[in-house]
Amino acid sequence: MIPLVDIGINLAHDSYERDRAEVIARARRAGVVAMIVTGSTLDDSARAIALCRGVPGMLRATAGVHPHHATTLQQSDAPRLAELLADPMTVAAGECGLDYYRNFSPPAEQRRAFGMQLRLATEHRRPLFLHQRDAHADFLAMLREHPDLASRAVLHCFTDGVGELEDCLAAGLHIGVTGWVCDERRGQALREAVTRIPEDRLMLETDGPYLLPRTLQPKPPHRRNEPMYLPLVLAAVAQCRGQAPEAVAAAATANACRFFGLTLGTVVAADGTSTYELL
Ligand SMILES: [Zn+2]
Repeated sequence: MIPLVDIGINLAHDSYERDRAEVIARARRAGVVAMIVTGSTLDDSARAIALCRGVPGMLRATAGVHPHHATTLQQSDAPRLAELLADPMTVAAGECGLDYYRNFSPPAEQRRAFGMQLRLATEHRRPLFLHQRDAHADFLAMLREHPDLASRAVLHCFTDGVGELEDCLAAGLHIGVTGWVCDERRGQALREAVTRIPEDRLMLETDGPYLLPRTLQPKPPHRRNEPMYLPLVLAAVAQCRGQAPEAVAAAATANACRFFGLTLGTVVAADGTSTYELL
């Protein structure tokens, strides 16, 4: 089995509070050997880093503030965010970006918080873990002001179509694909777009606890997504691209390791079985 990396999992989320260890164990049994734990507020990023310290052979974190929470990020928070970004468990700045779909924070506040995080990511030489919804033009305009950063950035949970994809690829972005691709109806544009992602720009993620793949059968009663379902995302992406799942898995894992600076080593247990661990 080719090892997988889930590049976007909100493992600090409350819904994993009572069974987080089992969620991690189930992921490993499903072949998900490493996960990037998404930080979406300052406190959440600190929790993500703490989780990584508990399972350093498998977990790394991002540190940042989601556009929904943009109003909570003040200039006076810059030193704390810088400290989170400098943590050895942190492998990317984010998730950050723009989300005009619900505007939980006003757009102007979102642009201010995003700009602040772009500057900090540049200073701390961190790759970017990006979020964008219904804000394509403003998002790309801001990224184009940081061309070096854009080529070291992944747009997570890409859900748009071919046109937006071409713009993102031209800007230099890597593309994260979630279980949205498993939705035959809602994911139609994405299912076409994934056929156009160059093999060296593609990564896979669950974005759990959100976006339970619609191809999961039978459906669990709770509807909570978790990293053990990443192979369903892989299967859908491979099917759309007309590639073998093994080929897509190998490419996506190599991309994730290169992008986030991860090194996967093989560890042999006492019983002779071997597993992968982050070194
Ligand atoms: Zn997101």
